[in-house]
Amino acid sequence: MHTYRIAVIGGDGIGPEVVSAGVEVLEAVAARCGDFTFAFDRFDWGGEYYKRHGRMMPEDGRQQIRHHDAILFGSAGHPEIPDHITLWGLRLAICQGFDQYANVRPTRMLPGITSPLRAVSGQEINWVIVRENSEGEYSGVGGRVHQGLALEAATDVSVLTRGGVERIMRFAFRLAQSRPRRRLTVVTKSNAQRHAMVLWDEVAAAVAAEFPDVTWDKMLVDAMTVRMVLHPESIDTVVATNLHADILSDLAAALSGSLGIAPTANLNPERAFPSMFEPIHGSAFDIMGKGIANPIGTFWSAVLLLEHLGEKAAAARLMRAIERVTAEPRWHTPDLGGKATTAEVTEAVIAAIAADNG
Ligand code: NAD
Ligand code: MN
Repeated sequence: MHTYRIAVIGGDGIGPEVVSAGVEVLEAVAARCGDFTFAFDRFDWGGEYYKRHGRMMPEDGRQQIRHHDAILFGSAGHPEIPDHITLWGLRLAICQGFDQYANVRPTRMLPGITSPLRAVSGQEINWVIVRENSEGEYSGVGGRVHQGLALEAATDVSVLTRGGVERIMRFAFRLAQSRPRRRLTVVTKSNAQRHAMVLWDEVAAAVAAEFPDVTWDKMLVDAMTVRMVLHPESIDTVVATNLHADILSDLAAALSGSLGIAPTANLNPERAFPSMFEPIHGSAFDIMGKGIANPIGTFWSAVLLLEHLGEKAAAARLMRAIERVTAEPRWHTPDLGGKATTAEVTEAVIAAIAADNG
């Protein structure tokens, strides 16, 4: 029987709460399927680790998880430490160091969950946002001069490379091709940003020629927010830069009911490095320690993890269990307008896994 080694990094805030729920659920799926097992290695990296050691993870941290089959991640972000230190010291250190350049964010209406959009009852929202995850606005290029003086200057330079844009465009077109509607929207801002975003558009058009069966269009990011709200049914697969997709996917999550249900896969598609799976939300300081964080985003991320491992039946089984639970308002956490706790939702999903005969 095959054993998958999973590196588990809860991180900060509600991260450890939802990730330990995710581990319980993955254990339950493996037990129910019976043809594979998990070995979980837990790493206490994050803000508390930083307070003890002056860094978010050990110097050889990536080395320690380099040969795991996948990483399950919670969130980086601690109330007492600046956000750029926690994010760059942990999540971005892993995403960029492991070249997880394709960040995949599915959004759809789960049963029992209501969209804040009046006209949406279900099928209108069924999107996958592909976020370029290795360069662009989050390339880390920039600096500060004359620090603390009146003439201080600071830059964050958005860097796009032809190779980097080509690989994310190919990934997005291929993904769009695999979905029934074969439709891709390339989000841009090449009217105002006249260098890197123009390269982005040019490469998109060139890659599109390799996929004649995919219908694609180009949309400015500001107009895209309007389209997501007013014509959600016109959207299927979307590709956008690191910053644009970061913002659009929080909007997508809210339109589908809550930030707490939205999943992410940070993929290295060539599998040269492990990929990382996490809910899209952050540390949620306002609800940490209260036991009411919605674990559904982490569970759905666990579905993506199972798909990545090639365990399709297990992935489908977990997704059915999630949908059976969201269908019942008594299992909704406060972000969805309910009263359920993290532990109750977790128990309900585990019970649904056990009861599933599919
Ligand atoms: P956030 O996602 O933590 O929270 C935004 C709002 O959504 C809050 O009101 C929160 O309570 C709610 N929310 C988020 N997840 C929820 C869940 N599972 N269940 C119920 N409600 C939920 O975003 P923020 O407040 O902007 O950031 C807080 C910290 O998290 C910052 O330090 C930020 O840098 C960090 N962050 C980290 C990541 C990451 O590591 N992937 C992502 C986003 C933010
Ligand atoms: Mn984000």
